[in-house]
Amino acid sequence: PRSDDLTVKSTKTYLIECLIKDFELRPNVLDLLEHVFIRQITGRAKILQKQLMELIDLNQQIVIAGKHERIHTKKGGQIMSSPTHDEVDDLATLEVLDEVMDSILLQRRYSKDQIYTYVGDILIAVNPFHKMELYGPQYTKMYIGAKRTAYPPHIFAVADVAYQSMVSYNADQCIVISGESGAGKTESAHLLVQQLTVLGKANNRSLQEKILLVNNLVEAFGNACTAINNNSSRFGKYLEINFTCGGTVVGAKISEYLLEKSRVIHQAIGEKNFHIFYYIYAGLAERKKLAHYKLSDSKPPKYLLNEHIRLGPDIVNNTFYKEQYDVVEQCFKVIGFTLEELGSVYSTLAAILNSGDIDFSSVTSEHQTDKSNISNIAVLENAASLLCIRPDELQEALTSHCVVARGETIVRPNTVEKAMEVRDAMGKALYGRLFSWIVNRINTLLREDDNGLNIGILDIFGFENFKRNSFEQLCINIANEQIQFYFNQHIFAWEQDEYVNEEVDARVIEYEDNRPLLDLFLQKPMGMLSLLDEESRFPQATDQTLVEKFEDNLKSKNFWRPKRVDLGFGIHHYAGKVIYNTAGFLSKNRDTLPADIVLLLRSSENSLIRKLVTHPLTKTGKNASLLATNRKRVFLMINGGKNKSAIILFSVELFFSVSAPQQYSLMDLLSKMVAGQPHFVRCIKPNNDRQANKFDREKVLVQLRYTGVLETAKIRRQGYSHRILYANFVNRYYMLAFPVHEEPLGSPETCAAILVKAKLENWVLGKTKVFLKYYHVEHLNLMVRQT
Ligand code: ATP
Ligand code: MG
Repeated sequence: PRSDDLTVKSTKTYLIECLIKDFELRPNVLDLLEHVFIRQITGRAKILQKQLMELIDLNQQIVIAGKHERIHTKKGGQIMSSPTHDEVDDLATLEVLDEVMDSILLQRRYSKDQIYTYVGDILIAVNPFHKMELYGPQYTKMYIGAKRTAYPPHIFAVADVAYQSMVSYNADQCIVISGESGAGKTESAHLLVQQLTVLGKANNRSLQEKILLVNNLVEAFGNACTAINNNSSRFGKYLEINFTCGGTVVGAKISEYLLEKSRVIHQAIGEKNFHIFYYIYAGLAERKKLAHYKLSDSKPPKYLLNEHIRLGPDIVNNTFYKEQYDVVEQCFKVIGFTLEELGSVYSTLAAILNSGDIDFSSVTSEHQTDKSNISNIAVLENAASLLCIRPDELQEALTSHCVVARGETIVRPNTVEKAMEVRDAMGKALYGRLFSWIVNRINTLLREDDNGLNIGILDIFGFENFKRNSFEQLCINIANEQIQFYFNQHIFAWEQDEYVNEEVDARVIEYEDNRPLLDLFLQKPMGMLSLLDEESRFPQATDQTLVEKFEDNLKSKNFWRPKRVDLGFGIHHYAGKVIYNTAGFLSKNRDTLPADIVLLLRSSENSLIRKLVTHPLTKTGKNASLLATNRKRVFLMINGGKNKSAIILFSVELFFSVSAPQQYSLMDLLSKMVAGQPHFVRCIKPNNDRQANKFDREKVLVQLRYTGVLETAKIRRQGYSHRILYANFVNRYYMLAFPVHEEPLGSPETCAAILVKAKLENWVLGKTKVFLKYYHVEHLNLMVRQT
C-alpha cells in the first residue's frame, strides 16, 4: 500500500507475531487487515488475508484481543461470535501495545461514533465535531454507580468515579482535562458538571441550574473565536463543586487564571474579541438600548471590527448574538446578580468599547516635544460618562502623565503613541478586572461553606501553535507544559518512586519527562520568565535586547534562535515545536496601568468602577487600607501594630506590574489540585478542519505520542495505580471478609485475607501499603456498595 508505510509495517510485524503464536488468531488481525488494506488492496495483502482465513478454519479458536478469553467456534469453522476491536474499550488491556494499533483502534471506534476509550482509569475523548446522542437522561441514569465495564466508556463514568471516590474516601477530588486547542476540553467540562450536579442530588433545583449556568456566563466573558476554535477558552478555569460529606451539592467556586486581556484591544487575523462584546452589541440594539450605552448601530466600535470588516460589519443583525445576549442576561439574573449590577457591567463594557474609539492627533510646537490631542471629544465624553468620571480629567489622564522628580510632581505630555497605549491599557485593565469581579461575585453568590468536600474540574486553554505566536501563546503553552508535568508526576513518577520506597518489584516504564522545559521557563533567576521580568525593568530594553538576553542565557536543547526570524525564538514543547516572536513581549509583560488612570477611575461615581480599581490595593497587604485618593495621590493607612500606624502618600506609578513569574505559574492551582485525588480526561482532536467523521490518523498519532498514551497503557497494565496504607485499606474494606462489628488489625495479613476473599489476583504487598491495580479498586468499591 502506498499510503502509510509506518502503519503497514507495524501491522505486518503484528501479523507475523500473531501467526507465530501457536496459530492462535485474533479477530482484530482480520479487522486490521480489512481496515488498513481494504481501500487499496494489494496482491500481498490479499494473500495474507487468504492465509488468515484458512488459518481460522484450521484453528477454530480465537483469542479476543485484550479480553484474555477464548471463544470457541461452531463446528465447521463458522465463527459464532466475532468480537471486533470495538469491544476493546480499554487500551491498557490490549495484548500488543503499540501506538499505531492504538490509533487504528481509536479510528475504528470513532467511525462508529464511539468517541470514548479508556486507558486504564484515564479517559480518552476524541472530538466528534457533531452533536452526539450520548448525554440524555437515559445515559445520566445508566452511569450512576455502574460497574465500569458494564457500559461503554463515557465522560459520565469519570464523573461517577470521582463522585464515588469522594464519598467513599471522604476526600477531595479533581478532574484534569487536557488536550490541544479545539480538542473538546470545555465541552467535556460542561458534561462533567452536568453529571456531577445530578450525582450530588442537588435537590435544590435552582442551585443545580445556577451551577450549570456559571460555565455559560464565564465563558461568554472568557471565550472567543480564534483561528483554531470558535469557542476557544482564553483563560484557565478551575471550577470546584462543593458537596456535604454525605455527597449533596451545596455550592460552587471558580478560580480564573491568566485571562488573555490583550484580545480586548487587538485580535489576530481571522479572530474575534471576547464573545460578550458581540452579544451585548447585538442584544442592546435589539432592545433599542444602544443609545443609552452611547453606542451607534450604524458604526460598530473599532474593537469589534477586526474580523467583521472581512465578514461585513453586520453585528447588530446577528441572531445568534442576540440569542446569546438573552442567555447571558438570564444567567446573570438566575445566579443572583442585581439589575443594578447588570447595568454597571453593561456600562463598563460599553465604556471599554467607546474608549477604543477615542482618536488622537499629534500637536507639535516649537518649544515642546510631541503632544497629543483628542480628535473626537464627543467619543471621549461618552466614555467618561459611562465610567462616571469627568471628561476633562479623562482627557488629561490620557494625554499627559505625572512624574516625580526631586520631590516635585511634574506633568509631562504624552505622544500620540503613548496616549494610545494608555487608552488601550485602560481598556484591558477594566476588562480584566471586570472579569475577576464577576468571578468573585459568582463565588459569593454560590459559596455555601468551606467545610464539606469538593470536586474540582480543570479546563484551561489548550496548547496553541499559530502561524505567528506571541506572548499569549507562550503563557498558554507554559500552562499546558505544567499540566503535562502534573500528569507525568501522577501517572509515572510518584507511582514508580513508591515501588522503590516500598521495595515492590515492578518494571520501570520510561516516559518523556518535560521537567527540563519547566526549568527552562520557570527557574529562578535564569529561567525565561525571570529573564523577561528582569529585562522589563530596564526602561531602555527592547524586544530585540530581550531575545538576545534569552539567547545568551538560556542553555537548553529545547531553545533555539531560528535564522531569518529577527525577533524569533523557538521552543521544543512537549507537544511540538513552536516559533515565537518577541515583538510586544516587554510591554505585554509590564502590563502597567498608569497611576493617573487608576486614581481617576477611583473617583468614579459608579461603585462598580471604583471597586474594580480598588481591588489591587487591598491586595498590597492586609495591613494597608485606603484612606482617600485624588487624581495624583493615594493615602494609605499602614498598620504597624499598636501606635505604629502611619499615613503614607504615594504619587508615582505604584500600581501592579503583573510580571512576577508566579503570575504565569500554575503552581498555586496545581498545589491545590495535588491535595485531591486526580482523574484525567485526555481530549484528542481528530482533524484540523473541525469536521465530523474525519479522522486524520497521523494527527492523532502525534497527540497519542506526546501525551504518552502508550506509556500510560503500559504502566496501567503493569503497574499499581493505587497504593493504600494497610490500616486505611482494612478500615475501608474489612467488611468484605469480616463481620461488620469486628475490628481486624491493619496488617498485611488482614489485607491479604480481604483481597483473597474478594477473589482478586495480581496485587502486591509492600512495606506499608497494599499495591493495587485500578480495576481492583473499582471491584472492591463496587462490592462495598453492594454490601
Ligand atoms: P480551547 O483550548 O481552544 O478552549 P477546547 O479543548 O476547550 O479548546 P472545545 O471548545 O471544548 O475545545 O471544543 C471545540 C468544539 O468541538 C466545540 O465547540 C464543539 O463544536 C466540538 N465538540 C467538542 N466536544 C464535543 C462533544 N462531546 N460533542 C459534540 N461536539 C463537541
Ligand atoms: Mg476550552
